[in-house]
Amino acid sequence: MRIAMFRRAAATTTAAATLLLMSMSCSGAATTTVPPTVRPTTSPVSGGTTQAAPAHTTPASATEPAHRRPPAGPVDRNGPVRHTGPAGLPLVGRTVGIDPGHNGGNFNDPSYINQLIWNGREMEHCNTTGTETDGGYTEAQFNFNVATDLAAELAAQGARVVMTRHTNTGVGPCVNTRAAIIDRSGASVAIDIHADGGPPGGRGIAILEPVADGPNDHVIAASKRFGQDVLTQFEAVTGMPSSTYDGIGGIVFRDDLAGLNLTTVPEVLIESANMRNSTDAAMLTDPAFQRLEAQALDRAILQFLTAAP
Ligand SMILES: [Zn+2]
Repeated sequence: MRIAMFRRAAATTTAAATLLLMSMSCSGAATTTVPPTVRPTTSPVSGGTTQAAPAHTTPASATEPAHRRPPAGPVDRNGPVRHTGPAGLPLVGRTVGIDPGHNGGNFNDPSYINQLIWNGREMEHCNTTGTETDGGYTEAQFNFNVATDLAAELAAQGARVVMTRHTNTGVGPCVNTRAAIIDRSGASVAIDIHADGGPPGGRGIAILEPVADGPNDHVIAASKRFGQDVLTQFEAVTGMPSSTYDGIGGIVFRDDLAGLNLTTVPEVLIESANMRNSTDAAMLTDPAFQRLEAQALDRAILQFLTAAP
């Protein structure tokens, strides 16, 4: 497993306040030392059950641009959903899972995100802070923006969308909880949205794909097909090249990630680009690029779901 690690010190607004951030390849573990201030809550949601609702029940900021707000409307046990639209739309009756990696509040609660969970093969941290650009634009924000744009694209085609978090101000949920949310949603396919913190000289998108471990055995082949659809559409629509430093031809098989180890639906994780590369960072932080990425993912999902199995 390739790990790129960066260390930097940053001042925080509190007195004691030195934040030592070890931010690594975003899908690896990260360690933070910060004062704990925010704690996820366990909240009842409709549907007659209680599930861990890691602060993603917090309403979106009223100042957020409308197109960044999470989906409104009905809520079920998995959170807000888009119900199917008019007959004739290509994704009516299909459910799509979206996991926007990390969360904006993870920086504030190391005791929560550093708890150990079972990822299907080994213990790993509940969650990580994710990486960021040299200018301080966080991966968590990027992931959430793309996810929100993608949810809108999919809903416009009639899909029901299940997201693992609904704001960028909460903490968690843990990666195994994210997998469970998607697994029980009835999704036909799922995408984990990330961006990498790789070597500054490296560029491009990498598709992380599952390795058979039992629970995911029956979705390995389909995940490979979906991964190829994502890579093809991503390169065509966004102009982002395949990774120059990770995997082969932009494809990486990973057996150390809960989302891929525990999935029971076809699923891949995208490292959309390298946030530590100045060229990639300039692209990723542009809202126009984020919308293009959402369009590329939407096309890939449509291609996958409408192709013969
Ligand atoms: Zn990440």
